[in-house]
Amino acid sequence: MVRYVYDFHEGRRDMADLLGGKGANLAEMTRLGLPVPPGFTVTTDACRAFLASGEEPEGMAAEVSRHLAALEDSAGRRLGRPDDPLLVSVRSGARFSMPGMMETVLDIGLNDDSVLGLAKVSGSDRFAWDSYRRLVQMFGSTVMGVDAARFDEAMGRLKAARDTPDDLHLDANGLAVLVETYKQLILDDTGRAFPTSPSEQLRLAVLAVFRSWNGERARLYRRREHIPDDLGTAVTVQRMVYGNLGADSGSGVAFTRDPATGRPGLYGDYLADAQGEDVVAGIRNTVPLSELARLDPVSYRRLRDNAGVLERHYRDLCDIEFTIERGTLWMLQTRVGKRTAEAAFAIAAELVEEGQITPEEALTRVSGDGLARLMFPRFDTGALGRTLAHGLPASPGAAVGAAVFDSAEAVRRAAAGEKVVLVRQETTPDDLPGMVAAEAVLTSRGGKTSHAAVVARGMGTVCVCGAEEITVDTAARHFTTHDGTLVEEGTVISVDGSTGAVYAGAVPLVASAVMRYLETGEQSGGLVTAVARALAQADAVRRLEVRANADTPEDARRARRFGAQGIGLCRTEHMFLGERRELIEEMILAGDETERERALAALLPLQRQDFIGILDAMDGLPVTIRLLDPPLHEFLPDRTRLAVRVAAAEARGEQPDAHEAELLAAVNRMHEENPMLGLRGVRLGLVVPGLVAMQVRAIAEAVVARTRAGGSPMAEIMVPLVGAVEELRIEREEVERVLAEVSRESGLPVRCPVGTMIELPRAALTAGRIAEEAEFFSFGTNDLTQTTWGFSRDDVEAAFFSAYLDKGVFAASPFETIDRDGVGRLVRIAVDEGRAARPGLTIGVCGEHGGNPASVHFFHTVGLDYVSCSPFRVPVARLEAGRAALDTQTSGTRSTRVR
Ligand code: PEP
Ligand code: MG
Repeated sequence: MVRYVYDFHEGRRDMADLLGGKGANLAEMTRLGLPVPPGFTVTTDACRAFLASGEEPEGMAAEVSRHLAALEDSAGRRLGRPDDPLLVSVRSGARFSMPGMMETVLDIGLNDDSVLGLAKVSGSDRFAWDSYRRLVQMFGSTVMGVDAARFDEAMGRLKAARDTPDDLHLDANGLAVLVETYKQLILDDTGRAFPTSPSEQLRLAVLAVFRSWNGERARLYRRREHIPDDLGTAVTVQRMVYGNLGADSGSGVAFTRDPATGRPGLYGDYLADAQGEDVVAGIRNTVPLSELARLDPVSYRRLRDNAGVLERHYRDLCDIEFTIERGTLWMLQTRVGKRTAEAAFAIAAELVEEGQITPEEALTRVSGDGLARLMFPRFDTGALGRTLAHGLPASPGAAVGAAVFDSAEAVRRAAAGEKVVLVRQETTPDDLPGMVAAEAVLTSRGGKTSHAAVVARGMGTVCVCGAEEITVDTAARHFTTHDGTLVEEGTVISVDGSTGAVYAGAVPLVASAVMRYLETGEQSGGLVTAVARALAQADAVRRLEVRANADTPEDARRARRFGAQGIGLCRTEHMFLGERRELIEEMILAGDETERERALAALLPLQRQDFIGILDAMDGLPVTIRLLDPPLHEFLPDRTRLAVRVAAAEARGEQPDAHEAELLAAVNRMHEENPMLGLRGVRLGLVVPGLVAMQVRAIAEAVVARTRAGGSPMAEIMVPLVGAVEELRIEREEVERVLAEVSRESGLPVRCPVGTMIELPRAALTAGRIAEEAEFFSFGTNDLTQTTWGFSRDDVEAAFFSAYLDKGVFAASPFETIDRDGVGRLVRIAVDEGRAARPGLTIGVCGEHGGNPASVHFFHTVGLDYVSCSPFRVPVARLEAGRAALDTQTSGTRSTRVR
């Protein structure tokens, strides 16, 4: 038979699935011999059974009665007995903390008789009637469903009638009147009387807490926090203790260390003559715990000792709720406490120093998200200005600068030493110089994988995108906020890429010591040492290698400083921007073979120089160079603008510029409705003559040059967007031909592994065939997500992802966190079939997911060899790869959040 109730003596901290976090930890404190008011917990099983059937599960009532009787025996009092009543609290407690989201009822057991008994034994009429008033109010709203505001209104009326400013000034008599008013209100509103039977009060309160699991607030919170809906809540029933019995009583909250900085030492707040609820409500000002040490040194010392016991037992920062009842300390709750990223690293390192945890355990206590937060400068939260807009937090960090509205202006002002924020509707490759020059990029359109977001993240530039509430008028050189504020060019704004907020004026910045350490190796204090230790530990245990996505020697060098073990994706299209774009244009427009060859020949030395620089920066480590991927028209001028210029010339009766007319014809010829699914990737290589040969020659000659210079270049050649093995076979033949040619010419054998991206479902489904021709695989999970879901990545995020997240279609954007069920399934298939066809096949991932903590864990589990991500995410990926390795060693079957 299922058991529904556990006494505190019977539970343990590892029973949180069944007893909720609160119930499990109360049980643990009881087992440790700490002063916990006795009680019992009704399980989440009971809650789930109740919510499923709408009926109290069979046997639950009898079990509750039995445990209540035991509680009464230990207290030597009976629930609600008129002369000396036992009173209990009924509180919710789910597996994961959901602060304030569910219901609580205190002082169960009071009625018109027992209130008199309570007055007698406590020696305070006022206290007894105030407790009764609290019960009727909480019970009325929580259990009986009366609008809480009605009680507040009744209280307000009474205070006005008695001319008292607050409820502290209402005497016993006034409170007794209020109890009657409240009871009448309940009767009028619900047609039912407030139940006077203590056991009925208890039964109804427990069921009401169960029901509150499905309250609107709770459901919303769970969705936001990715807590599964089917866990249910436990309910703890506990003897009441009172902090509001005078100056020698009080309630407080304590942390075993400072949760903001991690500094050791008891830390917290105390409020004399108050219940726990009053501390949280913030009605009166609390005092620091040092004040308690002065007011009641004995209780303070006990609290400090108990905190020590808990921290040594949990081997972690604990937070504690406590009450002092007439000089006696009671522990009401504890749990492993929430903390800032800084405190998480500091505490983990500190606990290792103290010998409380191993370095491996310390690694499980920190996170990649936390590390990312510590790597960026932050705004001083005490000095935030007026919020102008809110967009998607696309590339983290904080930046301040003058708003500018085009790339040229950004470059001009930055060259003159001004800090600027580039504000655009959306960005294109044309904006690249401006993006490089700017401190931050702000766009009104586009999602987190829009051009602005991806490029900014790659460069480590702050970016907020898709801020749809602003209207950007580039021609007028201003943007307008939703309330009509006009922000003109040159106005200073502050952009927070970690939250998506945009503020007016210059918000002061706090620099990151962790970033300075990663860049220079400079050890500048406790936090940096703690981060360095966690990273070293991660490196020691991880199986996944971490490479970087980098297209320039500078990025490659930075990635290497950050610990990258090679380049997993060098996107060559970024090398054809600026002046070189004209050469690509010439290649596209070439009327004959000779013209095309001339354009390609001009590009060759430039490409070679690019690769020499990158191979030099990554000497001795693999550099995966991807052949050109995007549709060629991305290198041509904008179609509409060209068409307007040509049409305007014609309208003026002039002959349009011949070059422009020729360009327009080419652009029209190449126009595609869905360019992401058009002529790109390997398809380009197969139909544009000479392009692949030029790129491969540049790579091979760079390898020769680096080898001659005494280096150890390790170039790998990667073919994008392959869907069929035949495509790869044809392209590979061309690659091998050119490699052999350069080997012959140079007298140096040039060997570059040739592999493919797996970024189309067909590639994943035929991976076994493709592996016959591929020496390595790299998952392009950006395109694989796009093509698996049929989501255009530049369009969908800003358009409807927030609605999808609200409706619970997915818990996180599949462009950020790998969709394990769909895209992840394709990844598994490709890994299995690829390795079956070619044992030992090297497999990595180079989509944005390569630097996403939850995705890194998935890639570890499916057995990839490496993840590759933007240089700034390399430390995050290293840390998470280490954590993933530990996770698989220790993972159990307990409930998890669906992240
Ligand atoms: C990908 O598709 O995941 C990828 C890395 O390629 P890109 O983002 O350049 O299309
Ligand atoms: Mg791709």
